[in-house]
Amino acid sequence: MIIDCHGHYTTAPSELEAWRKRQIAALDDPSKTPKRSELVIRDDQIRESLENAQLKMQRERGTDVTIFSPRASFMAHHVGDESTSREWSMLCNDLVHRVCQLYPDNFVGVCQLPQSPGVKPESCIPELERCVNELGMIGCNLNPDPSGGHWKEPPLTDRWWYPLYEKMVELDVPAMVHVSTSCNPCFHATGAHYINADTTAFMQFLTSDLFRDFPTLRFIIPHGGGAVPYHWGRYKGLAQDMKRPPLKEHLLNNVFFDTCVYHYPGIELLSKVIPVDNILFASEMVGAVRGIDPDTGHHYDDTRRYVDQLKALSASDRHRIFEGNARRVFPRFGTKTAREVNAAARRA
Ligand SMILES: [Zn+2]
Repeated sequence: MIIDCHGHYTTAPSELEAWRKRQIAALDDPSKTPKRSELVIRDDQIRESLENAQLKMQRERGTDVTIFSPRASFMAHHVGDESTSREWSMLCNDLVHRVCQLYPDNFVGVCQLPQSPGVKPESCIPELERCVNELGMIGCNLNPDPSGGHWKEPPLTDRWWYPLYEKMVELDVPAMVHVSTSCNPCFHATGAHYINADTTAFMQFLTSDLFRDFPTLRFIIPHGGGAVPYHWGRYKGLAQDMKRPPLKEHLLNNVFFDTCVYHYPGIELLSKVIPVDNILFASEMVGAVRGIDPDTGHHYDDTRRYVDQLKALSASDRHRIFEGNARRVFPRFGTKTAREVNAAARRA
């Protein structure tokens, strides 16, 4: 089985974006704020939005289950205030939940958190609990920079975040470190802001004792870990200079990398530098890069091809990257089938 640990509902029906535009337009006049119940999307619209996109790609590429979350660039936590973010997050999470109920073999949910700049992260706990306990979601996306490119929050290792981490540990859910759109013209969202954030999060973890405080807290750093695997010697050396423990014991029980690197040499490097137990298969389809590489004739984000090409992997290594590690990092998936995860949600 192949589990893709990183997919977003980027193809949601346009009614979702229309609702969001109304919500943003009403920021100056709260009496015009739309209710969540005013978003009407039929099941057949959801099916249509997936059949020729994520589901088609799963079938064509031979992957089985996608760990699925709301569209990352739409999270836009900087918009409005805490209540704006809460309503929008609930709406997006509910929609992902409907996807998982319509296609219980193909998708398992991960939630967006209702973060807001300057608001304490514990404000996200009720929505995290709702998504895990009632919607059957198995993880969350945590934005280290809700300001959207201006980096105003304390580092992820600051005690500011600890109440949320306590809840993540209690619920046994990991977070994917995932920023949203960039409001800073210096940083292109998917080309710079995403990769910067991935690299930044790793360096924050390196300089801290976060995982001494939370030995079972787990983060997935997406997009292949940003610049980290390529610059592993730098991080190893910096850790050494700072008298930090060796990176493997310091971070690799808690930090994982996905395979959203869109060319073979990148995946090859990732697999050589990062231990197999820390690599989770992912494609982030349908996502940031949607085209076809003229040199290969295949979609850039068809990352399974790159992993398949890694001849040095044993069958057991390949199984861990494709399936085993995801089941371990997301214990609420664990040994269950996707359908069993989603059926438990229906009963809740
Ligand atoms: Zn993503």
